Amino acid sequence: NKDAVDIGDLNDYSKKHFPLCMRHLHEVLRANHHLRHSGRLIYGLFLKSIGVLYEQFIEFWRQEFTKIMDNNKFDKDYLYNFNHQFGKVGKMVSYAPYSCIKIIMGNVGPGEAHGCPFKHWDVSYLKTKLNEYGGTQESIQEVINLVTNGHYQIACTKYFECAHGQPPVNSINHPNQYFEESMTLIK
Ligand code: SF4
Repeated sequence: NKDAVDIGDLNDYSKKHFPLCMRHLHEVLRANHHLRHSGRLIYGLFLKSIGVLYEQFIEFWRQEFTKIMDNNKFDKDYLYNFNHQFGKVGKMVSYAPYSCIKIIMGNVGPGEAHGCPFKHWDVSYLKTKLNEYGGTQESIQEVINLVTNGHYQIACTKYFECAHGQPPVNSINHPNQYFEESMTLIK
């Protein structure tokens, strides 16, 4: 049983403990107050799996989406979708969060924010973001070399190591594993 995650901590956690894919979804959501379908699904299942409880989960999405729409529209067009992720409606299945492979193999269309940054972003944008997030020139170059050779998850593992000053126990293969390994370092 892991600890519940408070939605008030997500800004902080996204900077310290989220892999790049989830940090990006969080930042795009905060900036645009909206995510397209795949982004909602992938980020929603991630949040559920790190320990955001149902009421807070709905509150989190509602707070953001109702910055650009009223509550009625949120209830009518989006609530079902978020309830579905939690297995509260439809087939009543609690869906599993996406693994790295599933995210890496997925398609990302124009205007969509999901996907693996190491796979789906162009290298110059990735470099800019890594700089913005405080990587050293040497570590950024190492990550970029891995990416250009198609080693996306190894690049993510390297990114973890640069961000935390030590490598994860296991090579990164799941965004939730990234989060959990990062959280153990502050305990
Ligand atoms: Fe996310 Fe996995 Fe890509 Fe890392 S390798 S950014 S955890 S999809």
